[in-house]
Amino acid sequence: RATSEAEPLRAYAPSMGQIFLRRFQLVTQFRSALETGQVSIHYQPKVALPSRQVVGAEALVRWKHPEFGRVDPDEFVPAVEATGLVDVLTDFVMDKALDRVRRWIDRGLRMSIAVNLSVRTLADEEFPDRVAAALLKHAVPPELLTFELTESGVMADPERALPVLRRLHTMGVVLAVDDFGTGYSSLAYLRQLPVDEVKIDKSFVLGMGTDLGDMAVVRSIVELGHSLSLTVVAEGVEDDAARDQLVSMGCDVAQGYLISRPLSEERFEAWLRARTVQ
Ligand code: C2E
Ligand code: CA
Ligand code: CA
Ligand code: CA
Repeated sequence: RATSEAEPLRAYAPSMGQIFLRRFQLVTQFRSALETGQVSIHYQPKVALPSRQVVGAEALVRWKHPEFGRVDPDEFVPAVEATGLVDVLTDFVMDKALDRVRRWIDRGLRMSIAVNLSVRTLADEEFPDRVAAALLKHAVPPELLTFELTESGVMADPERALPVLRRLHTMGVVLAVDDFGTGYSSLAYLRQLPVDEVKIDKSFVLGMGTDLGDMAVVRSIVELGHSLSLTVVAEGVEDDAARDQLVSMGCDVAQGYLISRPLSEERFEAWLRARTVQ
């Protein structure tokens, strides 16, 4: 064995190898993680401005891994996305989310649920059929389901994404552009997309208190959105000052730690009960 030659490599190999191995494990273990209950959905409320009425929630996926502990969606979603498994994730989240909406309807609550879509899903021409089947299964009207999509997701392959989006829109499902303001061609392309809602990226909302530039971006997105008759949602609302600014700008909906962090199903229901006038 040529130990002396292998030695320099070993200084770098373990960490690279560990990153690769972890990613590999996440991808290969994902399906069984779904089946064994390691993956759950957290719910983060959205409230109308200025009334503070709860209008719905965003479904955010969580993975409690037996070895790694809590794994962030920012890590495992892209890994899963790179495989064919993202459909399995989307269908899982959609099924859980629509089951929740059904329970709300049964209690007389009219609240919508937002599900994040990845690039891959937007290129899948059979996806609208699966959405229709899921809505039917849970007997949920399409307008109570929102899909959040990123600009880069649509622009990755607009030829394939647009027909899928048009079909979803025709079905009556609400479409929202997520992380708005972070992309390149925002203004020009927004007019051409069949969308109902824009979500101002939290980086601008978080920066509003200290950065006049961020404030100007938020204000202009609200104005642009309204000029296109879109609902404008702000994410990353962490304090009263941001909320008050958004109210004065006429922003329609707020989401963020000020209202609530994303909560487990049980804790979300408790939060809701505490807020809802009986
Ligand atoms: P996103 O769609 O932009 O989701 C918003 C993120 O901001 C969430 O992070 C949420 O917990 C966080 N957030 C909410 N309010 C505040 C606030 O007031 N301040 C700050 N600093 N952060 C706030 P999370 O849950 O870690 O999700 C990260 C990303 O992972 C999401 O970004 C989304 O792109 C992706 N993701 C989550 N769930 C799913 C899913 O089911 N499917 C897909 N495809 N992607 C998902
Ligand atoms: Ca989102
Ligand atoms: Ca976002
Ligand atoms: Ca994001």
